[in-house]
Amino acid sequence: MNFAKFGKISYVAETKLQEFEKHLETGKVMGTRCKSCGQTYFPPRADCNCLKGDIEWIELSGKCKLMTFSTLYFAPASFRYEVPYTLGVAQFEEGPAVLAPFSKEIKENEIKVGMSLRLVPTELIGGRMIYELRKADS
Ligand SMILES: [Zn+2]
Repeated sequence: MNFAKFGKISYVAETKLQEFEKHLETGKVMGTRCKSCGQTYFPPRADCNCLKGDIEWIELSGKCKLMTFSTLYFAPASFRYEVPYTLGVAQFEEGPAVLAPFSKEIKENEIKVGMSLRLVPTELIGGRMIYELRKADS
């Protein structure tokens, strides 16, 4: 099993969470929740910190609030043609926080800590899947 299409570059060859990519392709933001302790994860995790839980898939609303952000002017080689770009950390209403790039539809001067956002699965040219932060009402 592997992530064939997730991300601008390929990060990992093997995963127990292959369905994540398929969910993104259908527009769903899916996380996982531990049936034992209730901890919710995004990106999804196959194992919980409590080490005893059965993990189940849960669909997240995508609604989140911006906690912090940073604009990058230098980047790793795979992202050198993307700069400058802005990354945000946003907390889902279901609890977990996500690190994700902002959609280009949001200008840097519009970005404010505490603003309402939505995490949206996005298909890149070539069929690769990412997720990005967009305005809550877009
Ligand atoms: Zn747990």
